[in-house]
Amino acid sequence: MDALCWYGKEDVRVEDVPEPTILNPRDAIVRITTTAICGSDLHMYDGYIAGLKPGDILGHEFMGEIVDVGPGVKNLAVGDRVVVPFGIYCGRCESCRRGLWAMCDNSNENASVVEAAYGFSGAALFGYSHLYGGYAGGQAQFARVPFADVGPVKVPDGLRDEQVIFLTDILPTGYQAAEQCGIRPGDVVAIWGCGPVGQFAIQSAYLLGADRVIAIDRVPERLAMARDVSHAETIDYSEVEDVVEALKQLTGGRGPDHCIDAVGMESHGTDVMAMLDKVKQTTRIQLDRANVLRQAIQACGKGGTVSVPGVYTGYIGLFPMGAVFGKSLTIRGGQTHMLRYMKPLMDRIMSGDLDPTKIISHRLPLREAPHAYRIFRDKQDHCTKVVLTPS
Ligand code: NAD
Ligand code: ZN
Repeated sequence: MDALCWYGKEDVRVEDVPEPTILNPRDAIVRITTTAICGSDLHMYDGYIAGLKPGDILGHEFMGEIVDVGPGVKNLAVGDRVVVPFGIYCGRCESCRRGLWAMCDNSNENASVVEAAYGFSGAALFGYSHLYGGYAGGQAQFARVPFADVGPVKVPDGLRDEQVIFLTDILPTGYQAAEQCGIRPGDVVAIWGCGPVGQFAIQSAYLLGADRVIAIDRVPERLAMARDVSHAETIDYSEVEDVVEALKQLTGGRGPDHCIDAVGMESHGTDVMAMLDKVKQTTRIQLDRANVLRQAIQACGKGGTVSVPGVYTGYIGLFPMGAVFGKSLTIRGGQTHMLRYMKPLMDRIMSGDLDPTKIISHRLPLREAPHAYRIFRDKQDHCTKVVLTPS
């Protein structure tokens, strides 16, 4: 089968690899009909994620048709159409039982490596390095889905792939980012990053009752999408001297009630701290560039929440803990607990409250994935989100 394989920084190739087979009773095999490239894939493409091996198959946003199931999977049958969450959940451990799906205690076979870094490991992820289990991803014609009796959600007839593909990650991720702010009616929410996660965070903040959403980026078509599709007010950070000050002015001096960092570890910036981050990241002294996180903490109004869907991987210097303490802020982050959101958001799509298809800029065959990675990373050709079709 064809699959998109990682070979190193900026080196991904479509190759002919063996098709997956059932290994465990709770496995299923999915013939993939639509898959997508995520901002999280770019962290691997840019060489910032450890634990990848040459030839690893990437991709964690995928859906398709069940073509084989193990004897332990009773709720799915060959022919079912499913969306598959990007995390792998056993469904039986303490974390899964508590609905902390992204914290599944069993699925990551390599948990000990993450435990050494973080104390405890989260769930395994599809196509996301051996630190997270080393499971083959879904930018391919087929994928093996472990614990298939837990994760995949059936898609009702009448919903097209493009309407539901983002239930595999970025739509629930944007929703959780907004939900964990605890938005009250009348609140103002500021969101850094108008990529796919940022767009869905904006739309979700309105669904949850925000009065105003102010979105920040510098890419013109993404800012335009934030205004025209997601209905946010926007700040082009390359055109203002100080984003924090601009937000203060837009909020009558109070600051946003909540701030969402939908950028993560590869944020751009030109001030001294941002440049220091860049030097530290290049030399691997520090893994993350925390420019946006610092701005969000600085800008956030008293008693607010800073919600962090953007991915961070390690330690950060010059962290403004004084501001967190001094303004009584709450910081919440993490991988998305997918199974809390997939079905309710599917209902929102069916009822017409959400139309996720509007963020798609490129529809390409899987064979063109290396080109797609490049244009998505470089924001070329007005690329906002790529969906790929394995033939
Ligand atoms: P993306 O790369 O398409 O979007 C990031 C956006 O941030 C870009 O538009 C970029 O121009 C903008 N940006 C960069 N520096 C900025 C700055 N200083 N201020 C404002 N905007 C800035 O990525 P995406 O797919 O939207 O994903 C966003 C983040 O969410 C990534 O870190 C990704 O890994 C993460 N993510 C997390 C989860 C989760 O479970 N928590 C799931 C999916 C994605
Ligand atoms: Zn993703």
